[in-house]
Amino acid sequence: MRTGLSASEAQQMILGLTPVLRDERCATANVRGRVLAEDIVASRTLPPWDVSAMDGYAARAEDLAAASRERPLDLPVAFEIPAGAARERALEPGQSARILTGAPLPPGADLIARQEDIDRVGDRIRFYRPHPTGEHVRHAGEDLRVGETVLSSGTVLGPAELGVLASIGRSVVAVYQRPRVAVLSSGDELIEPDGAVEPGRIVSSNSYSLIAQAHEVGADPLYLGIARDRPESLEAALRAGLNGHVLVSSAGVSVGDRDYIRPVLEKLGCELFFWGVRIKPGFPLVFGRFGEDGPLVFGLPGNPVSAMVTFEQFVRPALRKMAGHRALYRPRVQAILTEALHKGAGRLHLVRVTLEAREGRYYARSTGNQSSGVLRSMARANGLLIFPADSEHLPKGSTVQVQVLDSDVLAAPDSGL
Ligand code: AMP
Ligand code: MG
Repeated sequence: MRTGLSASEAQQMILGLTPVLRDERCATANVRGRVLAEDIVASRTLPPWDVSAMDGYAARAEDLAAASRERPLDLPVAFEIPAGAARERALEPGQSARILTGAPLPPGADLIARQEDIDRVGDRIRFYRPHPTGEHVRHAGEDLRVGETVLSSGTVLGPAELGVLASIGRSVVAVYQRPRVAVLSSGDELIEPDGAVEPGRIVSSNSYSLIAQAHEVGADPLYLGIARDRPESLEAALRAGLNGHVLVSSAGVSVGDRDYIRPVLEKLGCELFFWGVRIKPGFPLVFGRFGEDGPLVFGLPGNPVSAMVTFEQFVRPALRKMAGHRALYRPRVQAILTEALHKGAGRLHLVRVTLEAREGRYYARSTGNQSSGVLRSMARANGLLIFPADSEHLPKGSTVQVQVLDSDVLAAPDSGL
């Protein structure tokens, strides 16, 4: 087992041991945010035939070539084509046809004159200008053509992709499985939020944060409860989490007398690859795997901020890889630091910051006390500033790299149209 890895070495090692999960077939209605696991080839052309983009009259451009304001041209309305009508009757020279938006153009017609551009005089239509071929026509195949690859494997499915799938009749598609993540809290001091707060007891908040982080990344969490700081208790709880893809525990991985996570994992047959990553918060992180294809195990530190930050840096990218994502990391922006920051060399720090966008630039401000027990500083943060391991000072006004934790940074309360 290695120890004292850099954050980047730890990420590489984890991702190197993280499999992409198999695919499964799911109802298209339920796969928003999931990753497509097949190439989607259009089984039909859309629109399947030329259709009208407006309510109006279908006509032939050559019939209208001589029309003008001074000398309008009248054509009889030979028939009507409502939306949903089959494309049957042809438009003969010298005729027009009433047509509604979305209805198929009759053979022979090559344009639609909008209702607003003509007058109806008795049972004839009066045209006041030449109308070019193709006016207000949606051409067959304008959207997609049969045989064309419309979505490729690896695409993240958003609302538009679901609409495209539905439009070609794909109500079921293959997507990568969602990783199942078992989440365990450990510690003799922990109680559930509605338990009695006796002296020495604290509420287990990590289960809430970590399960929410798992949900947020699209995984399927299973809560294993709180294990006590005794090998038997930990062993029983960890065993219950072994049939998922990932097991995440918090606390009990440091060097305290009752930090049993590591020995218990080893006793259960877990291979431990590393312990200790040169980051702050979150040094005492252990990573292992059960067997060749068993669950991955992340023993996160217990401090609430350390647990969340290490989940962000190490568990989240692995869960994204499992779920078929190609972009594994949070977006990063460059920001201007609004105050000087200092630290010792050696560990990479992830500083909780608030990012603010002003006049096209981002500004990063520390959320204050960076103690790993101050969870409110995490609640206030919408970014993590990357303070590199070998750097000791970041001057006020310098440009820094910030991971964006909350894309609502870009949301604007006052930028409606
Ligand atoms: P440990 O890693 O067991 O030394 O725990 C480090 C710190 O994190 C201690 O102050 C614990 O009380 C706290 N802690 C451990 N687990 C949790 C949890 N599930 N929720 C909130 N705080 C915790
Ligand atoms: Mg403890």
